[in-house]
Amino acid sequence: MPVTPELLERIARAVGPLGVIGDPEGMAPYLREERGLYRGASPLVVRPSTTAEVAEVVRLCAEVRATIVPQGGNTGLVGGGVPFGDILLSTRRLNRIRSIDPVDYTATVEAGCILSDIQDAADRVDRLFPLSLAAEGSCHIGGNISTNAGGLAVLRYGNTRDLVLGLEVVLPDGRVWNGLRALAKDNTGYALKHLFIGAEGTLGIVTAAVMKLFPKSRSVETALCAVDRLDDVLKLLSHARAATGDRVSAFELLPRFGLELVLRHLPSVSDPLSRVHPWYVLIEVSSPASGGEWRAGFVSLLSEALENGVIADAVIAESLEQANALWRLREGIPEAQKREGGSIKHDVSVPVSRVPAFLKAATGAVTAALPGVRPCPFGHVGDGNIHFNLTQPEGAGKEAFLAQWERLNRIVHDIVADMGGSVSAEHGVGLLKKEEIRRYKTEVELDLMRRIKIALDPDGIMNPGKLA
Ligand code: FAD
Ligand code: ZN
Repeated sequence: MPVTPELLERIARAVGPLGVIGDPEGMAPYLREERGLYRGASPLVVRPSTTAEVAEVVRLCAEVRATIVPQGGNTGLVGGGVPFGDILLSTRRLNRIRSIDPVDYTATVEAGCILSDIQDAADRVDRLFPLSLAAEGSCHIGGNISTNAGGLAVLRYGNTRDLVLGLEVVLPDGRVWNGLRALAKDNTGYALKHLFIGAEGTLGIVTAAVMKLFPKSRSVETALCAVDRLDDVLKLLSHARAATGDRVSAFELLPRFGLELVLRHLPSVSDPLSRVHPWYVLIEVSSPASGGEWRAGFVSLLSEALENGVIADAVIAESLEQANALWRLREGIPEAQKREGGSIKHDVSVPVSRVPAFLKAATGAVTAALPGVRPCPFGHVGDGNIHFNLTQPEGAGKEAFLAQWERLNRIVHDIVADMGGSVSAEHGVGLLKKEEIRRYKTEVELDLMRRIKIALDPDGIMNPGKLA
């Protein structure tokens, strides 16, 4: 890769002294990734502060075919933002909210805006930006767009893809595509924006976006329901969607084992229910109307489910604090799992109706393959997306367990594929799932993906080696 001192100097001139980091200590946080699976290396971290600067950096690199890895908040879970000798282009200084329009219900934001800052800005004009995930305090909207992030509110508002109206992208040759349209309707040919959404930085650098806003919810009700039979989870989901006019804004599955891990490892949490149950659902319903009627409707929905035996017990949050405490039980699972030892992870989806069958088949298969393994499947069951995570057998060595990663992935992913599912529901492909998509996507799909890559990035300078 032809990174010469001259190129680095020209880049530094283009972005100014604040725009480059070259010392190992300053670069270190950009080269580490969340799961510690990969260690990056880069000759330079570049932090442009305008689209024009991004375009100039890319143009300079394109001239000599130097490779670039875009990076946002660096919270990705598949190694997509890790450079291996490539120039790392961080969006940290590209972080202005260019405008918010409560009439159009849109926010035009630069790629480096932190997700929670956009949520707050929308809130200040009495609007809702619904994208929500546990990394929202540090991930960037450009990263969310580039991974088509899912998260907690997909059931009601869709994935990031559904929230993007327009994009601005610096192409691999340094040209800027200005597609910042705030239009609900625009049928003028190929929907180019969708190529860049979920492209994980392999087709260009997203520099800004027009995002959709929504009316703010005035009433949000949250409950933890205990479910004794897995099939009843889907009955509860169907019923809650119908009874609320599709206003279920979150519907998250927790297994008893996951709850136990949270109770064991995290401070200040307690089991809100008196008896032990095999499964729990954290359900949230939101309405733009305020008042007690919404709550009364929610209470009667759950009472009916209780009477019909669909749920075995439930606790409804009486305050925001209590709602947060219930959420902590769900959101604490990954951290609690980490403290319990090694985890082998799967981020899979199947059609919602197949979730119980998937859980039964996958649990049976992994426990047969590795006796003592402790499955901890949790997550966005309302989207058919389960984080089918496996905790190491009690007393087993962590390294020996993690050495089983590929073997257990294969077992689980084969079941997912048989059920018409996806081996990466929301975290993307990056490096971690690259071999997997080669195995599970059709040759036609892979061929189309390769052709799109070649058409947009013929010299292969954008995030080389990732995704396809
Ligand atoms: P990065 O990690 O910096 O980059 C991710 C990918 O996008 C890389 O391939 C990178 O090259 C590319 N990229 C970044 N910015 C740009 C840009 N401007 N232009 C082009 N390419 C770019 N994900 C979910 O979907 N749902 C969840 O519920 C969820 N929960 C999480 C919880 C935790 C605690 C953590 C740590 C992560 C979670 N994630 C989740 C994963 C992660 O937060 C998302 O993938 C997020 O969208 C990544 O954003 P980022 O800014 O950190 O991107
Ligand atoms: Zn998730």
